[in-house]
Amino acid sequence: MLADRIAIVGGGPAGAYAASSLASAGRDVLLFDEKLAWEKPCGGGLTDKAISRWPFLRELPAERNWITNCELIAPSGAKVRFDLDKQIAIFSRLTLNGLLLDRALNSGAEVVRERVVAIERQRGEWQIQSSSSRYSADYLILASGARNPFRSIFAPNLGPKNFIVAVGYYIPGTSSTVQVKFIDGLHGYIWIFPRADHFSAGICGHMEGRSTAELRQVLEEHLPEFGLSHESGKFYAHILPSLTPESLRNMQLCGEGWAMIGDAAGLVDAITGEGLYYALRSAELVSEAIVCGAPESYAIAAQQEIIAELERAARIADRFYAGEWLGGSVLERMVQLTGSSTRFRQLMRDLFSGAQEYSTLKKRVYRSLPKIAAEALVSTLWSSDSLPRSAAAAD
Ligand SMILES: Cc1cc2nc3c(=O)[nH]c(=O)nc-3n(C[C@H](O)[C@H](O)[C@H](O)COP(=O)(O)OP(=O)(O)OC[C@H]3O[C@@H](n4cnc5c(N)ncnc54)[C@H](O)[C@@H]3O)c2cc1C
Repeated sequence: MLADRIAIVGGGPAGAYAASSLASAGRDVLLFDEKLAWEKPCGGGLTDKAISRWPFLRELPAERNWITNCELIAPSGAKVRFDLDKQIAIFSRLTLNGLLLDRALNSGAEVVRERVVAIERQRGEWQIQSSSSRYSADYLILASGARNPFRSIFAPNLGPKNFIVAVGYYIPGTSSTVQVKFIDGLHGYIWIFPRADHFSAGICGHMEGRSTAELRQVLEEHLPEFGLSHESGKFYAHILPSLTPESLRNMQLCGEGWAMIGDAAGLVDAITGEGLYYALRSAELVSEAIVCGAPESYAIAAQQEIIAELERAARIADRFYAGEWLGGSVLERMVQLTGSSTRFRQLMRDLFSGAQEYSTLKKRVYRSLPKIAAEALVSTLWSSDSLPRSAAAAD
């Protein structure tokens, strides 16, 4: 079947990017979003991997903050600060969504500001009912985000263990350092992401573990450590997909005349919560598959490139947050080694830039371990304070 008339439900990064790619390729695209550009709860951080793959994210005029430093804080309070060799860009989501929706419009997509309330397949075509009108299409792309209300039409619903709760505040101010703090017993972290004129300061954790109110309280208690107060901020809360390895293995991303992309499909890294790269990349892969006349090839391409990587992250996420290593927690050791080993610090830089994938992480750690251990030992024996509470790591 030729997917000429394409309806995309959801105009966030995934839907808007797919709309611009498909409209540029001459397809007739209807893009629905109930809010259009909005401040979707998010950190707004884009890795160098994303910025390099889609240079318009760097080049188009839009307000974003370039980050040059990172501070990691262990549950004990030990800190390490290091410079990044590849900058991270932090966008407000209002700006990022607006930029992507403008590209969709300029590529010829029809952007409809309406809420989709029902989707039905009748006689080989999709009927899409919005709050005010009815539309039809040959092919349907679901890009309606983590609270995907239409998932059950296409695939089994995901249970609570496949989601993370995230709450935060937008607080006036800015800086060029991202800060990440790990908390004892939390499968998640606090982040302070400085944007052009405000911080997105938030906390995320597994839904089964903590309630939204508990997470909010933990965040409010910790904000003063960063020189911030929730009293000057605007509160937000949302959910983040964090699929189990089993859910990822059983994932069905597309079928007869339909596909799911971005958060609607659950494509988020279970360790870092990074979803923007996967939203854009899944949109790119589905568009390429449709344009080359084989929409079903999206599932294979996404499996090889996205699902396999997300599954690797999901398999080690529990041990990352709660595991023990060398007589201490993995998180404590990570902060310690980032301060004491040049090699380990470079590994952290590469993880932050997106250059280090999980597929080759194990091999790299094995290969570098003797050198990392030697550097840590030298640092322990010859530094004036072997485990500094606060260290600025220099190469
Ligand atoms: C607190 C928080 C912090 C995060 N921080 C980061 C980060 O720093 N970096 C990162 O890479 N990722 C981050 N993420 C993940 C990132 O926000 C998502 O992965 C990303 O937004 C997914 O894009 P999407 O287009 O798939 O979905 P969304 O951005 O959720 O877009 C879905 C769109 O669908 C529309 N929609 C939904 N239902 C309907 C309907 N019925 N009719 C019409 N329109 C509809 C919505 O209005 C929305 O615009 C964070 C997530 C959270 C919750």
